[in-house]
Amino acid sequence: MIPPPKPKPDRGRGPALPVSSCDCEHCRAACLNSPGWFTPEQIAPLARHLGLTVEETFAKHLAVGVTGMPDGTQRHGVMPHKYRDGKKPGSVWTLAEVAQAGRCIFFDRGKCTIYPVRPHECARMIHGRADEAVRLRRSIVARWTDKALAPFAKLTGRRLLGSGPGGRSR
Ligand code: SF4
Repeated sequence: MIPPPKPKPDRGRGPALPVSSCDCEHCRAACLNSPGWFTPEQIAPLARHLGLTVEETFAKHLAVGVTGMPDGTQRHGVMPHKYRDGKKPGSVWTLAEVAQAGRCIFFDRGKCTIYPVRPHECARMIHGRADEAVRLRRSIVARWTDKALAPFAKLTGRRLLGSGPGGRSR
């Protein structure tokens, strides 16, 4: 049996959290309830992996999610679609909808079907450490600027709320 790849350090702009490759209940809970977010740089490689355009990938597999910030404002970012009654891929989700559990569209028969290009947040699963999980999500939120969100605002026809210049909240 081929051993799983060793965790690698995160050399991106986010916190230095190791890449996870485990199959534990925390990882599965996310797949079944609350998929992690992609960074903007991950969308084009995901589309190539699927053999689709970015537009097709968004329409068939993705969604715009939202995160509440400490100042009460909200920020958008892109996540896998999750199965919920009445929601279709390519939608914009509200905070209340995001809070409801739903299986990730990429989770099939107990496995992640996009493992090599899975979301940054999924690859750094925090395994129950709530403060680190918040720090990780905010580092991803900061990357979703207005410019990064612009293609998805156009696709959804919705005004999306990005982080300010330099990843600052506003
Ligand atoms: S993208 Fe993969 S790892 Fe992330 S929630 Fe979906 S199935 Fe799980």
